[in-house]
Amino acid sequence: MSQGIRWSTYIPASTAGGRRVAAPDEDPFTLVATALELGISATAPSHPLARIDLVGDCPPVADWGLAALLGTPLEITRHPAGPAAFRGALETLGRGLPAGRSGAVVAAEIPERSADGAPNRGGAPGAAAVAAWVDGADERRGFSFEEFGGTGGVVEAAFSRWRTRAPGSSDVWLGEWGVEPSAGRSVNLERVLSAAQPSLSAVSEGAYVPRSRYLENLPSRWRFVAEECDACGARTFPARGVCRRCGKGERLRATPLPTEGATVVAATWIGPGGQPTEFDAQVAAMGGYGVVLADLAPGARVTLQVTDADPGEVGIGSRVGTRLRRLYPMEGEWRYGRKAVPRPRPPPSG
Ligand SMILES: [Zn+2]
Repeated sequence: MSQGIRWSTYIPASTAGGRRVAAPDEDPFTLVATALELGISATAPSHPLARIDLVGDCPPVADWGLAALLGTPLEITRHPAGPAAFRGALETLGRGLPAGRSGAVVAAEIPERSADGAPNRGGAPGAAAVAAWVDGADERRGFSFEEFGGTGGVVEAAFSRWRTRAPGSSDVWLGEWGVEPSAGRSVNLERVLSAAQPSLSAVSEGAYVPRSRYLENLPSRWRFVAEECDACGARTFPARGVCRRCGKGERLRATPLPTEGATVVAATWIGPGGQPTEFDAQVAAMGGYGVVLADLAPGARVTLQVTDADPGEVGIGSRVGTRLRRLYPMEGEWRYGRKAVPRPRPPPSG
């Protein structure tokens, strides 16, 4: 008896013109990353994730960044855009996956940034990422993918499959499939698009972080990895290879802290002119932004920029989720990090 495909989706909170659009700090990499994180957190895969098939355009960072984010070695394969490629990848994944491992096929679509700008049809919400998960080696038998033969997008095809799902279908749906496209956080699309595409060669005079240090700190920045000291029991975050209490560098266990449900202990608003220069383009287009200090766990505090929120929406005592987002361009590429978001709605059942 095979189980169904597990589907997880991430739909941006921003809305413009009656459909969901990506925020300026979102791109296909962050959308894909979030759909995968939501899928893992909603129901941990019964087998470790071994392969990801990426369908459509996704920045080069995804080739190593998804493994860094999920903290596991991954074989990444890229495919052209569109539902036919998605379906092909899903069938191939099912045939080639080693027993005892899981794989995911994932695609992100941001119609408002594509050449034709065609919105998804059939009531699909707009910008979104969709991931289809497969466990084990032989579970693709008997599945049909008629929806993925069309000429629309992957999001549209997956949305159609969700909307027309039969009672008793073995597919499992996680995430925000039923969102009302226009019920998100209203944004000015023109400003969003200008803020999403600043020059990648912009020179930062602010918090310059060498690329080597950025990469070295990714486990703490992206996965909130702390070190628990077996000698004295203290927790050190961010991880730095030495216990903050007893100073020992041995017997430290790397432990990821929760990325959801952090509690805000201090909050401030950075108005135009107050930001480090690497945020100039963002502030010029979108205005100021919130910054919070939040407790992830006892002894582990983190400073986070706030996104997908209006001034005052996140304050002291708020519980927040965190999402991987673009931070700023530096040395010809985007740097990414976690930001606080108002606590996401619980995923609907079924
Ligand atoms: Zn210690």
